[in-house]
This record gives sequence, structure tokens and C-alpha cells, in this order.
Amino acid sequence: TTRVVLAQRPHGEPTDSDLVVEQATLPDPQPGQALLQTLYLSLDPYMRGRMSDAKSYAPPVEIGGTMVGATVSRVIDCPAGEFAPGDIVLGYGGWQTYSVEPTSYLRRLDPEQAPVTTALGVLGMPGMTAYAGLLEIGRPQAGETVVVAAATGPVGSAVGQIARAKGARAVGIAGGPEKVAYLRELGFDAAVDHRAPDFVEQLAAATPDGIDVYFENVGGAVFDAVFPRMNTFGRIPVCGLVSGYNATELPDGPDRVGWLMSQVLRKSLTVRGFIQSEFADRLADDFQQDMSGWIADGTVKYREDIVDGFDNVRDAFRGLLKGGNFGKLVVKIAD
Ligand code: NDP
Repeated sequence: TTRVVLAQRPHGEPTDSDLVVEQATLPDPQPGQALLQTLYLSLDPYMRGRMSDAKSYAPPVEIGGTMVGATVSRVIDCPAGEFAPGDIVLGYGGWQTYSVEPTSYLRRLDPEQAPVTTALGVLGMPGMTAYAGLLEIGRPQAGETVVVAAATGPVGSAVGQIARAKGARAVGIAGGPEKVAYLRELGFDAAVDHRAPDFVEQLAAATPDGIDVYFENVGGAVFDAVFPRMNTFGRIPVCGLVSGYNATELPDGPDRVGWLMSQVLRKSLTVRGFIQSEFADRLADDFQQDMSGWIADGTVKYREDIVDGFDNVRDAFRGLLKGGNFGKLVVKIAD
């Protein structure tokens, strides 16, 4: 297999010396395992966290270990016969061209039912994240205003479209005019460019009644602009803080914790972090059913950014943390 291993922990943006491509020989699959050929590798922002040994909800990739990641793969060999050669499965093969995985990790995909890449995006972990975070924590009511950034990505685009399906007003934030135009196409009620010099004014104009739900994907300057516009009893599901994933130190400036907490108090805000796995067991069936229905009836549209070739994995990942992707980022490894 050709794989990417974590050679050292990155300081800032991961370099090619942090993420090293190497050849390796895989062990033969044992009963209870399968040998798989990777067709598609999902690239997701959480992978930056796995490169770091800062304490988190999941252990880091070890130095010398293969970078982790969800994959859509073809079964080559499965000694105990749980899967047949040629089956297409969702697994967790990581950044490599072949993998040996426990069959208990694998889920068979039906290419007739949905394009297999959707299992990595709108019908997979990112879609579930949007669904659970918005409906369980954000709880948008009809007529309320929901704001989400990274809004053209798999999480944000689902958040905005589900919010609209619930009768809320959806305001999307994205980087650059092309992404903003796409948000309007998706049916967001308003779309704002966080790179525009007048972003703060644009956001104010787009949220005349304030903000009831801010689905937090990015943090940083976007949070600074959104937070003062929160309404009383507002909810902030804290899903991700991608603007800071490559940061090497805290931002400059005065300590604002006191001010922040006073706003949380005075406006009776709910600020609640979550990891989607918390909801996965309880909501998986509802999610699959609702999301498949919404895709079928056009309520939820999705966009994929499919990069061709294993050679481009590292560049694609670096792009993801600074908006280089446009839609769910997936690397196509083989036909
Ligand atoms: P995206 O495909 O949306 O990619 C990340 C996007 O973040 C970029 O495309 C870019 O979009 C935006 N971005 C990057 N830097 C900045 C910045 N400084 N300011 C504003 N926007 C920025 O990723 P996902 O949809 O997969 O993930 C979205 C968020 O959800 C991430 O924070 C991720 O960590 C989190 N997440 C959390 C999970 C959980 O269980 N809690 C599970 C899955 C994802 P643009 O060009 O528009 O700025």
C-alpha cells in the first residue's frame, strides 16, 4: 500500500515533512478482517486535531502511524466471507491506497441507492453532525434566524437547508463571491462573505432581527461579528473552530472571558459543545431516513469537491483548513 504517515507533529500548517508518503506491505487479512482497495478518502477538519497530542476527545495518531480517515473501498479479500469480493463498503481505512480492516467496522453501500461518496458527506458523518447539532442543540423555531459559517461545506450547507425546512431564516457565511452566490442558489435567505471588508455591516444587514441560533463551525473573526448579535435565549451549538486549527498560540488582545460570560448571563444564552458521536446511536436511523427524504425531494442539495489522485491528498488537506475546498472534500484514489 502507499500511505501517508505522521512523521512528526506539525507546528502550524502541516508540511510534507510532517506528513510523509511511504510504501508499506500490509499483513494478510485474518478471519474477521478484510483486505480493501481504497476508492475514495474523506478529508475532514478533525484530522488536524489527530495530528496534535493536545488532550482531546480522541487519541492522536501516533508518530509513524497512518493518518486516519473514513473511506469508501472495494473488498478484495474477506477470508470469513462476511463480505464478497467486489462489495463496496464504508470503512475507516485512512490515508492509504489499500487497507486491512476489521469487518465489524465496515458497512456495505448500495451504489444504486445513492452515489457512494455521499456516505462520506451528506449521508455520512458531516450530515449527521449538522442534523444532530442543529436539531438537538440549536432547536430552530419557525421564523427564527439561524446563522452558520463554512456554509458551503458539508456540515454548514446541511445546517442551513435543514433550518429552512424547519421554517427558520437561514443566513450563510462563506469565503468569496463564488461561494456566496452558491449559498443563494441553495436557497439561503441571505449570504455574507466573511472575507469582504464590510463583513460586519453585511452581517448586520442580513440579520435585522438579531440571531437566535449560531451554529459555530469556525470561531475567530466570524464569531466576533456574530456573538454581539445574539438574541435573548439564543443557542450556540459549538461544532468546530476551524479558523484556529493551525494556530500555534492564542490570538493577541485583552482577555474577553469576563465580557463573554456576562453576555451569556444577560442574554440567557446556551453555549453547548458537542461531538456528533454522542448522538450517532440514538439518531442514526432518523437521520438516514430524514436526510434521504430531503435529498430525494430537493429540500437538501449537496456539493462534493472530488480531488483526483492519492498524490494530491496533502495539498487538498492543507486547502481544507483555509477554504480551498468548495463542497465536501473527497479524494478519489481508484476507479
Ligand atoms: P468544510 O468543508 O466546511 O471546510 C472547512 C471550511 O471552513 C473551509 O472550506 C472554509 O470555508 C472555512 N474556514 C476556514 N478557515 C476559516 C476562517 N478563518 N474563517 C471562516 N471560515 C473559515 O468542513 P466541514 O463541513 O467538514 O466541517 C465544518 C466544521 O464542523 C469544522 O469546524 C469541523 O471541525 C466541524 N465538525 C465537527 C464535528 C463534531 O462532531 N463536532 C464533526 C464534523 C465536523 P470558506 O471558504 O467558506 O471560509
